[in-house]
Amino acid sequence: TQGLDADSAVLIERRKRVLGTLGPLFYNQPIHVVRGQGAHLFDAQGNDYLDCYNNVACVGHANAHVREAVADQLTRQDTHSRYLQDEVLDYAERLLGYFPQALDHVSFTNSGSESNDLALRMARAYTGNRGVVVTANAYHGITDLVASISPSFGTGIPLAPFLATVEVVDVLKNPGPDAEEILLGRFEAAFRQLHDAGYGVSAVLLDQIFSSDGVLPGAPGWVGRVAQATHGAGGLLIADEVQSGFARTGDAFWGFRRHHADADIVTMGKPMGNGIPTGAVVYKTPIGDHFAECTRYFNTFGGNPVSMRAAGAVLDEIEQRELLLHAETIGDRIAGELGSLLGDTPGFGGIRHAGLFIGLDITSRDSSGLPDSAATQRIVDELCSRKVLISASGADASTLKLRPPLVFSDADADRLLDAMQQVKSLGLLG
Ligand code: PMP
Repeated sequence: TQGLDADSAVLIERRKRVLGTLGPLFYNQPIHVVRGQGAHLFDAQGNDYLDCYNNVACVGHANAHVREAVADQLTRQDTHSRYLQDEVLDYAERLLGYFPQALDHVSFTNSGSESNDLALRMARAYTGNRGVVVTANAYHGITDLVASISPSFGTGIPLAPFLATVEVVDVLKNPGPDAEEILLGRFEAAFRQLHDAGYGVSAVLLDQIFSSDGVLPGAPGWVGRVAQATHGAGGLLIADEVQSGFARTGDAFWGFRRHHADADIVTMGKPMGNGIPTGAVVYKTPIGDHFAECTRYFNTFGGNPVSMRAAGAVLDEIEQRELLLHAETIGDRIAGELGSLLGDTPGFGGIRHAGLFIGLDITSRDSSGLPDSAATQRIVDELCSRKVLISASGADASTLKLRPPLVFSDADADRLLDAMQQVKSLGLLG
């Protein structure tokens, strides 16, 4: 609690007493958030923080349209999904309109983890196989099954024996002319490993922007080749759109569309309800029909009317405010200007982005170019002390991760760039 103000110290103590040590906090000076607006968060003292990290509040903190939709629904009814209800049907029809024709059914959940859990169970039932392939530092959630195929948990949780992992970072950070072939070869090797071990391939589960691997949008298209290979190996491609979905990447509403991939199942969560918990699994009819024959699936809160109204209001906002186009325009601007600002500064290891999802590598300042997680953390904390909120990702936590609400304005971008200029002039990057 060194250096903390009295208010934060008391809250941290209270948290420890009731929440224990399971819930990690951001920043060496955690922020006591009391309200938000657009891309801004305000603390108990009224300080205005620029939120460059929260994709949950995708159409802005305290969005009035979402609030009105939720409030209106709460005055009507909010019960579980075993009644005939308009809200779930209205939203399901609308959501499926954002997908290619073959992806024509949806089931609702309450989180990304639940969505991935259901997707994997569907894929296993449909293919009759058990093996799963993910990237080397993937994160897909917290249920027993999903955690066991999420290597980014580190060594604390045993990974599943039916898991094969594929390294993609080196190729996606420095793509040569053979990038697609190299990646494809690695996926084929993973398929062979699972076949040889007797598991077969049920699914390749890929975060479509590879956020926890270090934000790796890559050139559009290579995931499409992986989808074909997956089908050849008897498995299904599950596109995890928890990070990349809902207009985030600017050039397509979903990351798998950006990659021209024939996904069989698509999972989503985080931004879907702008903070009202809701998730979904979209799938091709035969996959869902088969699962329904094998098992009974009932989800108490999945598709509840309040969540559905929130999710509908999010789509209204994305459409009416043209946030897909905006994500592309302002994401290009920020990434371009950050790249120019940092240029050949020692410690700047490169920048990647798709729309409003930006990854910026920090390396040691010597000629080794090795990842520098300590410097990365210092930059995150220095920006925080300048009231600009970002975080880090990647296996060695040396990629600055910027993923603001989609309503991020040009004035917000100016403020971010100004803060980064200050951090650069402190000598933190060079
Ligand atoms: N998939 C990905 C790619 C994620 O980033 C996350 C959450 N960070 C999840 C799944 C799990 O989502 P949730 O926390 O809503 O369960």
